[in-house]
Amino acid sequence: MADKTPIDTLIDLMARLPGLGPRSARRAVLHLIRKRGQLLAPLAEAMAEVAATARECLNCGNVASGDICPICADIKRENGILCVVEDVADLWAMERSGVFRGRYHVLGGTLSALDGIGPDELRIPRLKDRLATERVSEVILALNATIDGQTTAHYIADELDGRVTLSSLAQGVPIGGELDYLDDGTITAALNARKQI
Ligand code: ZN
Repeated sequence: MADKTPIDTLIDLMARLPGLGPRSARRAVLHLIRKRGQLLAPLAEAMAEVAATARECLNCGNVASGDICPICADIKRENGILCVVEDVADLWAMERSGVFRGRYHVLGGTLSALDGIGPDELRIPRLKDRLATERVSEVILALNATIDGQTTAHYIADELDGRVTLSSLAQGVPIGGELDYLDDGTITAALNARKQI
């Protein structure tokens, strides 16, 4: 068998992306090669820059190009109200809806006995630190309606009980539905009708 060419390597890597398979990867790579100047070169440059600079925000766990993400650095965002999400994709979904103007805390997953993920593997200790240092008055638990998501929400509610007003997104978030799959209107309605717990 002939050695792999750089183009084969690129196709193999692209095929590992979510939503792409080998066929879509081949089409995408062919398109990139044909648009080398307008697309391939700028894409390669943007990827190299993200690869060199992307990291987790030290404060909230969002992705950032420096120590602190743009949301934590934004002085126009409301202080004192924290929206707790499982994953950066959930944060992006909330931001897309444009309804929330407070700040976020990204847990980085859910508690899972099966996978050996306990509170210290998530950003739960950091969440408690933030309550003290940022004068948080309300925590909105915007966790997914999966079993692990709800177990995690209950755990956090118990841990923070009495220290802060706690609320969760209203019903209407479908069972097993992840925030990222909801349309903006559903997220807005779920946030506006959030219930205190
Ligand atoms: Zn941040």
